Parts: sequence; C-alpha cells; structure tokens
Amino acid sequence: MTKKSISPETAIAQGMGWMEESFKGVIPGIYPSTTYEREIDGSYPNGRVYTRDQNPNYDQPQQILSSLEKGADSMLFSSGMAAAVTVFQGLKAGDHVVAPKVMYWALRNWIMTLGADYGIEATFVENGDLDAVKAAVIPGKTKLLWMETPANPTWVVDDIAAWAEIAKSVGAILAVDNTVATPILTQPLTLGADIVMHSATKYLNGHSDVLAGTLTTREDSEFWQRLRRIRNAGGAVLGPFEAWLLMRGMRTLHIRVERASENALKIAEALSGHAQIEEVLYPGLSTCQGFEVSERQMSGGFGGMLSIRVKGGEQAAMDVAGRLTLFKRATSLGGVESLVEHRASIEGAGTPCPVDLLRLSVGIETASDLIDDLKDALEGA
Ligand code: PLP
Repeated sequence: MTKKSISPETAIAQGMGWMEESFKGVIPGIYPSTTYEREIDGSYPNGRVYTRDQNPNYDQPQQILSSLEKGADSMLFSSGMAAAVTVFQGLKAGDHVVAPKVMYWALRNWIMTLGADYGIEATFVENGDLDAVKAAVIPGKTKLLWMETPANPTWVVDDIAAWAEIAKSVGAILAVDNTVATPILTQPLTLGADIVMHSATKYLNGHSDVLAGTLTTREDSEFWQRLRRIRNAGGAVLGPFEAWLLMRGMRTLHIRVERASENALKIAEALSGHAQIEEVLYPGLSTCQGFEVSERQMSGGFGGMLSIRVKGGEQAAMDVAGRLTLFKRATSLGGVESLVEHRASIEGAGTPCPVDLLRLSVGIETASDLIDDLKDALEGA
C-alpha cells in the first residue's frame, strides 16, 4: 500500500513517529549519559563520542524544527540568547550588521556593548522602513542582516522577502528571529532568509518551564559549519531533560499557536477604541503599521502577542497592570498562561518602548475571561 502524505500537524503531534526502541514506548526516553564507549578498534559505532553536541535527545526536536521551518538542519542551544549570540560570533571583527531599532532588547544591548567590543559594527534602522535598510547596507562590509518580525514589543511586521533581496545584493546573510510568529504562521526560510532563530523558551516549548534556543539553516554552508563549531567549542547546549521537555511542548505547537492567535485577535478587536486606551498594537489590525505585509507574510493568524498603550502615561499603565488578576505580571511570552509586562521599565534607559505600553502575551484561556479581566482593570474595577 502506498503511504499517503500526511500533514505537518499530524507528523508533529506524533513526534514524527519516533519511539523508545527498547520497550516500544511511544515517547522516546531521556539519555543522560555524557559519554559513549569506544570499540576495541577505537571506533564509535553509533557515531557519538561525547554529549556536548551529540546528545540523542537533541535529534528529535532538531529534526522536527527543520521540518517545521523547511530548513536543512537545526541546532538546539541553552537559551534563545545563546542561539542568537552564536550567529554574531560567527562574524569577524570589522564586519557590519544591520538590525532593527525595535527588537528583543537584551540582544540589542549585546550588539551595542559586547558585540562592539568584539569589533562588530552595527546600524539600527527604523522598523518597517525598507529604504533605511537599503541605505544602511555597505557592500563588501555588511555581512549580516538581523530581523525580528513581528518586533517585540510594538509588533511592527517587516518584509522578509524584501530584506532577503537586499541581503543578497550585498552578499550578506539574512537571519530572522521567528520567536513570535513561530513557523506555524511564518516560515522565513521559504521567503529567502538564510537562518532562523527561536527563543524556544517561548512558543516552541510553550509551558514556561524550559530555557532553550534554536537555529535552523536553509542550507548547509561554510557559515553554518562555523556556527556548529562555535556551539561545540562553547558548549552552550541544552541538558537532555530540557531537550526532552521541549520536545513534549513542540508536539502541541500548532494547537497552542492557533488558540493564542484567535484569543489575541479577539482581545485586540475588543479593546480597539476603548476609552482608556490610546492605541492597540497588533499585526492583525488593519490600523497597525505593516498590516499589508503581515497579511501577505503571515498565514493562519497574527500571533499571540499584542501591546496596549494606556491613556494617562506610565503610572496609569502600571495601575492597570496592578489591577489585572488573570494576566500575571511577569516577563517572557509564549506560554499557555497569559502574562502582562510594563516593558519600558524592564528594558531600562535608552529603550525605544513607550512608557505607557503594556505588553500582553495571550495564552490559551477562554478569550471572554481575558477580555473581562482587561476591561475591569482598565475601568478601575
Ligand atoms: N528573542 C525574543 C523575541 C525574545 O522575546 C527573547 C526572550 O524574551 C529572546 C530572543 C531571548 O531568548 P531567551 O530568553 O530564551 O534567551
């Protein structure tokens, strides 16, 4: 009988069919061993020598991620930051980078401080401004374009295919932080990007209980092999238990992202025009910057992240956050539970984030409960 092709949802829900071989368990085991025995002739018959980048628990999530992102290969890291910084460490002193002004703040800080110490030169461009990207690249010197879309925490969506063209025109690599869109809604490698990065701490794991990062490449390349060497030498890898937990989370990625996106859209629509709100920022609202790009680039939803700008400034925003009961006041995003964060005070001096902005990570709860919680907090109930 010929096997019909199955959907990505089916393949991933079933962990691509991986099982525990010794006892036929339907879930693969956890392999804590740090080292592997050699044969008498000195060979390693299973191809594994030492756990640093060869732990068997990496194999399944890496393969699933490559399939989700439509890439050739993936690597797990000990955090999203470890994954992102590895890409920058792949550059050489004097190389120039273009990145957006609004992006994950800790990485922006790394580029401006430690990255600068290592000789990396960077130009930060306005989100949503393609002309600024074109003007910023320096032929022969720009080696990396770094994108984050939707950009945290204003959620402006940038055009990956257009950035890819610009990167190609100067022989630079395009890397995309796809943490917020997830491969369910956007697949940057199919739009011309070379590398995709995730903070797997967020949606890929989805349960706020694992710190992890990933990189996926469109094709094997010299640069990818260099990143492999950096990971192996530096050892910023996941433990086997964390990799196993990440795998457990990834099996429900589709359903979590779909539900969070539905909820976020309902909230964005319910709060638009609210008397206490200056502005709702969400890629799925036609009033938001970059909407025509998000409509074209995202499919199946606009993600679970949105921000609201509260009338009355910073203290009013803090007060609203203080009155929320279902939304927990905590940093991070992408879990099944909803979170709220006053972003400017977390990012500190120099942040481009408005002080009246509250970032909402919308979970998979019932949308009407979340809307009631927000309306009560806004109305001072
Ligand atoms: N990229 C984005 C968009 C993030 O939100 C974060 C963390 O919040 C990171 C990267 C860094 O990931 P991690 O916290 O796993 O190091």
